[in-house]
Amino acid sequence: GDTLVLRGVKRTYRGEGGDLPVLRSADLTVRAGEIVALVAPSGAGKSTLLHVAGLLDRADGGSVLIEGRDAGGLPDAARTAVRRDTIGFVYQAHHLLAEFSALENVVLPQMIAGRSRRAAQDRGRALLSAFGLGARLSHLPGKLSGGEQQRVAIARALANGPKLLLADEPTGNLDVGTADVVFNELLAIVRQHGLAALIATHNPDLAARMDRTVTLRDGRLG
Ligand code: ADP
Ligand code: ADP
Repeated sequence: GDTLVLRGVKRTYRGEGGDLPVLRSADLTVRAGEIVALVAPSGAGKSTLLHVAGLLDRADGGSVLIEGRDAGGLPDAARTAVRRDTIGFVYQAHHLLAEFSALENVVLPQMIAGRSRRAAQDRGRALLSAFGLGARLSHLPGKLSGGEQQRVAIARALANGPKLLLADEPTGNLDVGTADVVFNELLAIVRQHGLAALIATHNPDLAARMDRTVTLRDGRLG
C-alpha cells in the first residue's frame, strides 16, 4: 500500500519581512518497501517537508496521508499517536540523551509507547546488536564514535517498529568512509523490514543507492 502520500501540501512561514512560501504544492507517494531520495539545494525546504510529512509541523493546505489515513488534519494528540506508532526519524545530529546509555536511549521511546521495560530492553539489545553495538550497550553517547552514535540514533528511530522512516542527511556529520558504511547499514535494515523511507541527502552517490529520487524545487516535488 501507500505508506506516505502528500497531496498539494503547502507551508508558508510568516515573518516580519513578509511571507516565505516554502512548500507551494508538494505531491509525493512513498509505497511500502520503497526508499526515496529527497534531493534539493540547501534552503529549498527539505527539513520543512520532512517535518510536515512526519507530523511534527502542520501544513497550511493539502493533505498528509499515513497508511491511507488523513493524519495531517487530526488533532495534536492523535497526530502524536500516529507519529509514535508509525514514524521513525533520523536527523543529521544524533540528538541522543547524553545522560543515558546507548541501550536506554533505545529503550525509553518504547516505554513511552507502552512497552514493558523487559520487552523494550530485549528489543533494544537486538536492534543495537544488529548494528554491531552489542558490546556498547551501557556506553554513554559521549563515549561512542560518531558512527556509533548515529547507529544508536538509527536503532532508536526503529525502536517502535515504524512503517515509515524519515531521515534528514542521516550521515551528513560523518567522515566519508564512515558515512558510506553507516548509510549502507541503514538501507539494509530498512529493506530487511520492508519499511518505506524518505531520505534527504546532498550526496548523489547516496541518492543513487535508493530506489528513486525526487527533487524539491520552487516548493514542488518533481
Ligand atoms: P532545507 O532543509 O532544504 O535547507 P528548510 O526547510 O530548513 O530547508 O528551510 C526552507 C526555508 O525556510 C529557508 O529559507 C529557511 O530559512 C526558512 N525557514 C525554515 N524554518 C523556518 C521557520 N521556523 N521560520 C521562518 N523561516 C523558516
Ligand atoms: P518483536 O518481537 O519486538 O515484535 P520482531 O519479531 O518483529 O520483534 O522482530 C525481530 C527483530 O527485528 C527484533 O530485534 C526487533 O527489534 C527487530 N525489528 C522488528 N521490527 C522492526 C522494525 N520495524 N525496524 C527495525 N527493527 C525491527
